[in-house]
Amino acid sequence: MARERWCIVGGGMLGLALAHKLARQDREITILEASDRFGGLADAWTVGPVTWDRHYHVTLMSDLHMRDLLKDIGLADDMNWRTTRTDFYENSRFHPLNNAIDFLRFPPLGLIDKARLAFTILYASRLKNGVALESIPVAAWLKKLSGECTYERIWKPLLRAKLGENHKIVSASFIWSVINRFYSARRAGIEKEMFGYVTGGYKRIIDTLVADLESRGVICRESAPVREISQSPHGISVRTSVGTDTFDRVVVTVPGDHAARMCAALTQHERDRLDALRYQGVVCASVVLKKPLRGRYLTYVADETVPFTGVIEMTAVVDPETFNGLSLVYLPHYLPADHPLFDESEEVLRENCISNLKRMYPHITDDDVVAFRVSRARNVMAVQALNYSKAVPPMETSVPGLHIVNSAQIINGNLNVDEAIGLADRAVPQLQRLAAAPALPDAANNNPPLAIPAE
Ligand SMILES: Cc1cc2nc3c(=O)[nH]c(=O)nc-3n(C[C@H](O)[C@H](O)[C@H](O)COP(=O)(O)OP(=O)(O)OC[C@H]3O[C@@H](n4cnc5c(N)ncnc54)[C@H](O)[C@@H]3O)c2cc1C
Repeated sequence: MARERWCIVGGGMLGLALAHKLARQDREITILEASDRFGGLADAWTVGPVTWDRHYHVTLMSDLHMRDLLKDIGLADDMNWRTTRTDFYENSRFHPLNNAIDFLRFPPLGLIDKARLAFTILYASRLKNGVALESIPVAAWLKKLSGECTYERIWKPLLRAKLGENHKIVSASFIWSVINRFYSARRAGIEKEMFGYVTGGYKRIIDTLVADLESRGVICRESAPVREISQSPHGISVRTSVGTDTFDRVVVTVPGDHAARMCAALTQHERDRLDALRYQGVVCASVVLKKPLRGRYLTYVADETVPFTGVIEMTAVVDPETFNGLSLVYLPHYLPADHPLFDESEEVLRENCISNLKRMYPHITDDDVVAFRVSRARNVMAVQALNYSKAVPPMETSVPGLHIVNSAQIINGNLNVDEAIGLADRAVPQLQRLAAAPALPDAANNNPPLAIPAE
């Protein structure tokens, strides 16, 4: 019997993880990726003399899905674990925020406010499920538990750092999921949370994963942007810039508006639902410096005059020898996907970033800046607005054989690779159940072999 032919649209970590799991069964799998490299938001690029992740990435000890995947592809022993330090920048001063003593010394808050903040964190960490918080605006919930002052001085800057202006519309389940991510180590029986990276960064992870997929017969095509997915008498037709092919099953992993545009076969209602998902984007500068900043992996920036919402000193985690002794720093600015800053020139962004970096870290001079490059990603994370779970598109569609599995389906969770792989884990049994339902006309028997030529 001809093997079932499956197509996965999108070669980010979610698409690759789905292929990794689906390839265990006897079926032909093709991944179509628009860009000239796999990995999506987790891909790597080159900034001056440094090649590393385009966006800062670490794995937590409690990221068990990710660690299982690394084990499967033989990279688990190449993980380097580090304890990290965190700062909070406010009023031109850095405040360490690493342990209970830092917290008690933390000057922006008085004793009662600190007690209410501690209570809020403890209370949220004890809540088993964030769904009940979906109908409460995050600001209202935090103000009620922590008080107005703590909201303004602590929570609001932290929310801004992660969500930009979208912090005004998210529900309380967002902050519940953030707090819970930091308690997940304890739940997983891990004594101390640590941050890790694989030697060689995500480039090595993705190269190894793609090589592993190819060795198991998965067809991995980059530079193959999907233009249209339609229903045909023989299955689901997928048109790319280089040809059309027909599959028994197609799984679309791309963001909602992209999926709505390409899935002509869906009903208007289904496409409107995908299109209505609002995304959080990021303009994220990578800066290569001759000197370290302060050796903190993460600094929350609570100063609204600074044009980035955090400072991530990657070389506080990654051995600086990896970059020949240079320091790699990321300056993310989280924004709504339609913000005009996405169209700003690299020169203006560079001037804004470097002048403010020098203001925050006076020991840094222009001469210390070795290289600068900006990544602009408009569709990073679906914004979990009020009652979000009701807006999420289901995996099953009105078109038999066409499925949506994308990161918008991560409900009450943070966006990270571990969640993406967890979503793939949950999706596979559901896709298999749908595939076992009454069969479509057999695409493999009625169609010519793969019509998409290699580039
Ligand atoms: C600044 C930043 C920092 C982060 N830090 C961390 C971290 O520390 N730890 C962590 O675990 N996670 C982190 N993440 C999150 C992580 O990168 C994502 O969770 C993960 O990469 C999402 O994978 P995905 O496949 O769902 O989406 P994406 O990576 O967006 O993949 C979607 C893919 O679909 C492709 N595509 C789009 N349209 C088409 C089309 N028409 N045809 C074919 N292909 C198409 C895209 O090119 C892309 O490759 C971070 C993300 C960002 C932006």
